[in-house]
Amino acid sequence: MLDAATDRSRTAALSSPVIEARDVSLTYASADGDVHALSNINLSIAAGEFVSFIGPSGCGKTTFLRAVADLEHATGGDLRVNGLTPHDARMQRAYGYVFQAAALFPWRNIEDNIMLPLEIMGLDEDERRERARRNLELVNLTGFERKFPWQLSGGMQQRASIARALSFDPALLLMDEPFGALDEIVRDHLNEQLLQLWNRTGKTVLFVTHSIQEAVFLSSRIIVMSPRPGRIIDDIACDLPRDRGLDIRETPEFIALAQRVRSGLRAGHAYDE
Ligand code: ADP
Ligand code: MG
Repeated sequence: MLDAATDRSRTAALSSPVIEARDVSLTYASADGDVHALSNINLSIAAGEFVSFIGPSGCGKTTFLRAVADLEHATGGDLRVNGLTPHDARMQRAYGYVFQAAALFPWRNIEDNIMLPLEIMGLDEDERRERARRNLELVNLTGFERKFPWQLSGGMQQRASIARALSFDPALLLMDEPFGALDEIVRDHLNEQLLQLWNRTGKTVLFVTHSIQEAVFLSSRIIVMSPRPGRIIDDIACDLPRDRGLDIRETPEFIALAQRVRSGLRAGHAYDE
């Protein structure tokens, strides 16, 4: 039986933010001098939020995701993932990462690609196959287990890479422009599927995009960023109904949110390039 103290600490862990950034800055030293990729980032993201990061190239979106994933290290401030340092969170496999290019291994079929992280984790083969089956079903790729990445369309490859990120059931998904290279029709379709997946699984998602439409359609919250130095210039709550379809993009509520994002982007743009 749980004693009251254990119960309390468990509740605290559950209610603590998934991401907590306090005055986070990250400066790259380069041959041309310092690049202030992130400056004074203050941000708290709760479990179950779908947060999009939008802003012009170079405003630090990728850097922020990479810092969360312990691939870069903040040079100032404090960044916590599930209450832990990014390093400790990585050790606990707290998240799955989806990159702009699907980054599947061409010599492995789809099932073997998805099972790779599970192999590294040391799960036995039956468990690996069962999880691959479940996650391929989640992204509507059942039946494509034996295909190789090059036999799949770009959209299907991206879905496979999402299935791989989901394979060890992380509560947090980091997605860096996952649909940026796809045409609009495919992107619309994947947006609907990702929204359904988020609704079904309740995962926390950090999602980088260049598309205002995509950000407003998918998100429960949008962080607008600006470059030099990379910083947050607006933080917009989106309270569109959870079971929305693509036609919501025609509604006044959607259009108003899109306008707010657009004006934030305009205000933050330096027009100096
Ligand atoms: P975004 O993803 O928003 O386009 P990035 O996070 O990739 O922006 O980059 C933010 C800034 O940091 C840019 O000016 C970029 O050139 C610079 N930058 C990114 N990575 C490095 C690096 N490894 N070394 C030096 N500068 C970098
Ligand atoms: Mg980027």
